Parts: sequence; structure tokens; C-alpha cells
Amino acid sequence: MTQQPVVPTELLEAGPALRRATVGVPVGKVMVGGNAPVVVQSMTNTDTADIDGTVRQVAALARAGSEIVRITVDRDEAAAAVPRIKDRLLKMGVDAPLVGDFHYIGHKLLADHPACAEALDKYRINPGNVGFGDKKDRQFAAIVETAIKYDKPVRIGANWGSLDSELLTALMDENAKLDRPAEARAVTREALVRSALLSAQLAEDIGLPRNRIILSAKVSAVQDLIAVYAELSRRADYALHLGLTEAGMGSKGIVASTAAMGVVLQAGIGDTIRVSLTPEPNGDRTREVQVAQEILQTMGLRTFVPLVAACPGCGRTTSTVFQELAQSVQDMIRERMPEWKKSYPGVEALNVAVMGCIVNGPGESKHADIGISLPGTGETPSAPIFMDGKKVATLRGPNIQSEFRAMVEEYVKRRYGVAAARPVAEIDAAE
Ligand code: SF4
Repeated sequence: MTQQPVVPTELLEAGPALRRATVGVPVGKVMVGGNAPVVVQSMTNTDTADIDGTVRQVAALARAGSEIVRITVDRDEAAAAVPRIKDRLLKMGVDAPLVGDFHYIGHKLLADHPACAEALDKYRINPGNVGFGDKKDRQFAAIVETAIKYDKPVRIGANWGSLDSELLTALMDENAKLDRPAEARAVTREALVRSALLSAQLAEDIGLPRNRIILSAKVSAVQDLIAVYAELSRRADYALHLGLTEAGMGSKGIVASTAAMGVVLQAGIGDTIRVSLTPEPNGDRTREVQVAQEILQTMGLRTFVPLVAACPGCGRTTSTVFQELAQSVQDMIRERMPEWKKSYPGVEALNVAVMGCIVNGPGESKHADIGISLPGTGETPSAPIFMDGKKVATLRGPNIQSEFRAMVEEYVKRRYGVAAARPVAEIDAAE
């Protein structure tokens, strides 16, 4: 059945430039909330007790751009591994804050492994499974007290799939007594929001300051996510972690996450995001970082890597030269970025265009910092190159790909290198 959209238009009208005011929370070296830019985070899928594997994956995620990395802490062996993982990472120069993900026995693991409690930069707990019956509040309090003791922030992450069953039952009973009961889905959304907010209030009552609390309320359906976050944002000013849980694999996961988070971010809601993609077997975990960055960058909220604008191709591009060049330039940029970032400040704002034919090619290429307009089928086999809106060269022959890549490299060096503040076309004209 199609769900009714629950788009908070009054929030959308505000736009992302008017970020919702939230309390800033320091997570290690990273600020989440306040006026800080939206932070990208990710999660490992290694067994945390496997120190080598986890160090490798955290380092890969951090190098891909994950500004915070979450790891599972599910048993004694994992908790014991955490300080060693942290130590190894720091020795490698990887200082992305580490978050411990705790379920069911977090209180015990944190108490039994003080070095783990100290090494982590944030604890993530789920109010739906922190404990049951009369143990729930006691175990929740124990985790919060540990956070206070070590001055660590806590993410209180309610989740549709593990919702506090007592709270949900109470709300369903209350709803059933109403003359006009709400739909079960609306009650479940309300339970999720309340679970997060009540737990946050409880944490504050125990003594955890508001600037050590981040909230999330994850769901797996786009309309639910929009509705729940609009409500969370309306009712409190806690920093918010945003993400669609169980988004799925491949394009389905990317589209669902983008659709949901795009609407919410556009309304100025969300201080940190994670894209929960299910990787292909043996697939690259860093894909979720890349997608999160692309969501924020295409929305104009952050700038991470140079963008390659490529036309989709059509009947005018009957060979694969155009696709191969677009892919090759994109790959080159990703590969070169770690070094470019160090040597060429501001390079992440670079725009490159790879266009398939004369129809839109020259026009789009002129709008980019550097662009190439390839010949379409039946056109003269030459490719004009544009820099800063001016045609600067024409490439021909079999080496167009390598020659264009070399020109991009040269452009970056001259435009973003120290003492190169002028557009490259101007530098060319002056020389
Ligand atoms: S620029 Fe040319 S090749 Fe690319 S989509 Fe437009 S018409 Fe087709």
C-alpha cells in the first residue's frame, strides 16, 4: 500500500542553509551539531576481536573520508581488543574517533573493561535492548554513569526493529482507548520518537550533560524517517544522527538513503549521517562513505572531492571512448585526492566536465574549471579542452585519455599549488 507522504513543508521552506539549532557535541576531535558541518560516519563489519582486520578496515574507512567510525563491542574479546585497536590506529596516524556499539550487555562490558571505556570516543546504546524489566533503567544508568566518569558522549539510538516493547505496548493500549485511534504505524513512529526523547531525559537526569548526547531514531522506510526526524527536531534540540537503517544493497540502498536523507537534510535537520549499505559479498565497505559524501556534496552542504560532470551519453556517442574517459578521470581523482589534499588546498572544489558531443559539450565544459568535449559520432575527431571558460587546446588521436588526465593534473598543480591563486587560463595568457 502506498504511504501518504509526511513532508514537513514548513521545514523544507527553511532550506539547509538554515540548519536547525542543535547542541554541539564533541566526539573525539570532531564536533557534531552546533554550527558544525554535517559529519560523515561509517561502521565496520569486522569482528572487533580480530584486531588486524578491524584496524585495516577502520583505517580504510577513515582514509576514504569517514570522520567517525563505529565498531561493534559485543563480548569480552571485542571489548579487550578496543584499546589495542585504538593504539595501533594512532601509531598509523589514523585518529578518526571510534564509537563502540553496545547491545544487551554494554553496562557489563564497559564496567569490566575500563581501558575500552577510556579508549572509545563515544558509546552508542539502543534504549530498546539496553536491558529488560526492572534491569532496564539500572543498566541504562550504569552506561550513562560510565560515560560521565570518562567524559564520553553517548548516542541514544532508538531503532524501529528493536523498539522498546513496553513503551510501544503502553502507547498502543492508550491509542486503542481513543474515540478515533491513530493508525498503528503512527503510534509506532510516536513510540520511536518518545523512546529516544525519554531516554535522553533520563540520561540528563542521571547527570549526562546535553552536550554529551546525540539522538537517532532509525527506520527502514523513507516516509517514516522523514516523519520521525521532523518530529524529533521539532521537540528537542539534541544533536541528531541521521540514517536509514537496513537501506539494502546497491542502487536500492543508495536511492532509499538519498531520498530519505535528502528531504531531511534539506529541512536543515541532521548533524551526522551514515549510509547503511549492505555490501556485496567481499565488497568494498568504503562505498558507504563515498555515498554519504556524495549526498552532502551534491546537496551543496559539504565539499569533499572534485566532481566530474559527465553527460549521460546518447545515440550520438556510439563508441565507449566517452564512458571510458569519464570513468578514468573519476578514478584518477579518487586516487590522487589523498596527495592533492595535502599539496593543493581547496582542490576539493574543482569541477571537471567530460562531455560526449558538440550539442552540450562546449557549453558545459566552459562552466567547469576544466572540461573536455569529445567528438560524437560523425563529428570531426577532435576534442576541445576548456579551462576557466576558455578554449585552451584541442586534443586528437589515440592518446586523448592520458593527455587529458595529464592536463587535469597540471591544472590542479597550477590552480591550487602554493602561490597559484589565479585561474589557469589567466596564468596561460600572462606567460
Ligand atoms: S552532450 Fe551530446 S552525447 Fe552527451 S547526452 Fe547531450 S547530445 Fe548526447
